[in-house]
Amino acid sequence: MKYASTRGQSPELSFSQAVSEGLAPDGGLFVPESLPDISQRLASWEGLDYPSLSFEFLKLFADDIPERDLRKIVFDSYKRFDTPEVAPLRKLGGGLYILELFHGPTLAFKDFALQLLGNLYEYLLKDSGRKINVLGATSGDTGSAAINGLLGKRNVNIFMLYPYGRISALQERQMTCTGAGNVFPIAVDGTFDDAQAVVKELFADVNFKSKWNLSAVNSINIARVLAQCVYYIYAFLKIPESEREDIEFVVPTGNFGNVLAGWLAGKCGLGVKKFRVATNRNDILCRLFNSGLYEVSQVRPSCAPSMDIQVASNFERFIWYLENGNAQKVRSIMAEFKAKGRYFFDNFNACGFSATSMDDSEIVETISEVWGKYKVVIDPHTACAFKNLDTSGTKILLSTAHPAKFPELIRKTLNIDAKSPILESLAEREIVRKRMGADASAVRSYIEENGIR
Ligand SMILES: *Cc1c(COP(=O)(O)O)cnc(C)c1O
Repeated sequence: MKYASTRGQSPELSFSQAVSEGLAPDGGLFVPESLPDISQRLASWEGLDYPSLSFEFLKLFADDIPERDLRKIVFDSYKRFDTPEVAPLRKLGGGLYILELFHGPTLAFKDFALQLLGNLYEYLLKDSGRKINVLGATSGDTGSAAINGLLGKRNVNIFMLYPYGRISALQERQMTCTGAGNVFPIAVDGTFDDAQAVVKELFADVNFKSKWNLSAVNSINIARVLAQCVYYIYAFLKIPESEREDIEFVVPTGNFGNVLAGWLAGKCGLGVKKFRVATNRNDILCRLFNSGLYEVSQVRPSCAPSMDIQVASNFERFIWYLENGNAQKVRSIMAEFKAKGRYFFDNFNACGFSATSMDDSEIVETISEVWGKYKVVIDPHTACAFKNLDTSGTKILLSTAHPAKFPELIRKTLNIDAKSPILESLAEREIVRKRMGADASAVRSYIEENGIR
């Protein structure tokens, strides 16, 4: 399988190369140049456990990694999940199900992809003899999922900047209490944007970047999207056959990576055609799918913070499919969007997506209604999926985070202590972090002292 850039101006690469590169050199995102048809395989995948299913699916895409190695990489990636089901499907009633994607080490769905990506990195680095230093900035969740994916991996050190005092105590503990020798959390005085600016400055320093093999863990790696396709297939196969005719997946959405993965599984022949994008008050994607107009505005903080985004980085992949792989058209759309901050699509009919959004007060009401009705505690991101549920067909709502990640909100809303053994064990560990000003030269020296070469 070859991987092409959505912008069509980079050479096609193998799976391993596309994973190592992350972003294509022409600024585009990698996409598999064709999609396998899984419809005939589904019957034989029935009843497989999660890692086995993941291996069967990923081997169709990662065809340049020997199967024995790939199997080990995949199985290792789901070992740290706290349930053997990995992604349990829970029936709420009628045709309503929730797919629990929060059983990984950082209790959010990003673990599905980042645990795998960490193992792939380690494998590919060992092969190439390279060593890398991952550098990133985080406003909370992605940083901890990335750190936990790379925890203790050989040949990679990770430097993660975050705004001191501006992330939750729990998020900070998830990054600073890992006990891993290759993890270097940096608490920066300033905002997330200040931290991000330092990272950008260091990446722009070409000599420094190449001397230390600086690498980004970005949200657009193709391996992340493919890893996420698997739980859609897994959930589909858990639904009784009589209820599979009319399935809709409802997906709390920010950067559009998660729901895109489901839609791609659909394009591979999973018998599901309906996907709902569920956003919070940052509703750029909701407006887009309801009107065709893609238009940025200001990011507004919400109580579902991992979905507080404006420009959805994975959206370009969808455009590529929408335009039938016409990279020149993708380039012109992206250029116009960049220049004007808006673009109007008139070809969305029958693409399979619908969209809703929820503001903070609805999120809080929903958490309490769901508890009242089903005795299930949901987190604020998952709550967004409960908007406008009708009772037709089968609905599978993706639950993207564990409620224990939002203890204050849950306590205030339900008067319940949402708990998780993983988070409780963090409270006993020592916090290890380096605090410094939002100053590129300070961070540069710190990397020079602690980087791997
Ligand atoms: C990242 C995240 C999302 C959004 O997922 P995208 O792939 O960016 O659309 C939703 N919920 C939680 C809890 C997240 O961490």
